[in-house]
Parts: sequence; structure tokens; C-alpha cells
Amino acid sequence: MRRLTKRYDERTTALDRVSFSVTAGEWVSVMGPSGSGKTTLLNILGCLDSPTSGSVKIRDAEITGLGEEALTKFRRENIGLVFQQYHLIPYLSALENVLMAQYFSGVVDENDARHVLEEVGLGDRLGYRPAQLSGGEQQRVCIARALVNAPRLLLADEPTGNLDTENGRKVLDLLGKLNDDGNTIVMVTHSNEVASRSDRLLRLVDAKLVSDSSSAILAQERPGPESDIPAGNARAGKKGNRKGVEGK
Ligand code: ADP
Repeated sequence: MRRLTKRYDERTTALDRVSFSVTAGEWVSVMGPSGSGKTTLLNILGCLDSPTSGSVKIRDAEITGLGEEALTKFRRENIGLVFQQYHLIPYLSALENVLMAQYFSGVVDENDARHVLEEVGLGDRLGYRPAQLSGGEQQRVCIARALVNAPRLLLADEPTGNLDTENGRKVLDLLGKLNDDGNTIVMVTHSNEVASRSDRLLRLVDAKLVSDSSSAILAQERPGPESDIPAGNARAGKKGNRKGVEGK
């Protein structure tokens, strides 16, 4: 992402010349006050919105300037989206919700859909509709849906925002496992505890990227008053093995 700017109107600049790059396999958190541009950033990375100026490349593909149809195609083939609000289809089962995502990308393979639900720990819930699942289980269906087309980039907007501590921890453990398996994740969160599970932390203030550092700096800030998810140490080894990612 280079010098990315998004203006909604003359008075609203949601992103102001934001530049950074994410290496394949990284888990990046984006934090910042309300209105600082986090959702806009995620929407542009997710091909749901276009910037006013600047450039976004995913792998070697320049996505800025693509028309709506091409953006949608690119999104379906390359991006997995996980939202705070689950956006599951209420009258379809977990398996059918995942099959729908395959349908839209043009390849339906029930074995793959089952496999990805097993991977997120829902192998025994395939036939359950969203209302029959806990919030954490619904979020795991969303993650399965995001993963089923093997995206290059997984984007998550407050993935634990609606979950209690226990379910939040399970979802974070799952994201950690997916990242350990090589998935690249960019996640918006308000929580230091959640962000501390990632590798790298970007902070936005007033539409500008004001810091880009290792998430390890959050260790000095914890525990915060909004502690909800206990900081896990299961990934400490991985973090310890990582090369520094600061100053990109
Ligand atoms: P955050 O996710 O950090 O809360 P947003 O990206 O949602 O921030 O918003 C950044 C700024 O852009 C805010 O001032 C917000 O009011 C404005 N904004 C967001 N979406 C729109 C929109 N569709 N139209 C006009 N202004 C918007």
C-alpha cells in the first residue's frame, strides 16, 4: 500500500497518504481511535472500496483502478473476510453457508467445505443453523467461509468484538493456528490483548499511520482497563523466532 488516500468528501479524509507493506505469513493488527480510518483501510484492502489516490498491490496485482466487477472477482479469488457481525445466512446450515461462498467463487466441493469446518473445530456442527450455534461457533463458521477458497489474505474486523472471554480466546487461538499454517492476516481491533497475539501493530490516528512496530510493545502496556481476552503465550515461541518486522 503506497501513499493511500481516501477522501469521502472535501471535509472528510479517512486515510491520508498511508504506506506499508505486509509480508506473506504475517499477522498484522490495526489499532486506532474511532474514526481514525481503520475500517476504510480494511475495506480498501478487501476490495470493497476504492481509494481516492495511491496504490494497493496484493502479491503483484495492482488493484487500484480496477472496476467494480474486476474488484469483486479479485476479492472472491484472493481475500477472505471475517466481520464482527457474522453475516451468516440464518436459514442455511453451517455447511451450506460455507458452500455458498464456494458457489460465488465458481467451485463447489462439499468435501473441501466439510474439511474447512473440521479445521475450525465444527466437524460436529455441520447441519446446525446459525441460531443453533454460540457466537464463537458462528464466528468460526465465518472463518471457515473466509478460508474455503484458500485466500491469499485474511482480513478480520474486530473478530472477537461480540464474543465473551472464552469464545474470544478460541477464535484467537484459531487465528493463531491459521497464521502458523502460513495464512496472512490483517485484523482491526480495539483490544491490546487481542492485538498482542499478532506479530505487528499499525496505529492510525486522524487518517495517518503514526506507528508501525512489533506487537511486543503492547506487553509494556498490559493489562489495560479494557482487558477482556487474557493474553496467550502459546505463540511466544513463534514470535521469538520471528525476525524483527519493524520499520517497514
Ligand atoms: P474507524 O474504523 O477507525 O472508526 P472509519 O474508517 O470508519 O474509521 O472512518 C474514518 C472517517 O471517515 C470518519 O471520519 C468517518 O466518519 C468517515 N467515513 C467513513 N465511511 C464514510 C462514508 N461512507 N461516507 C462518508 N464518510 C465516511
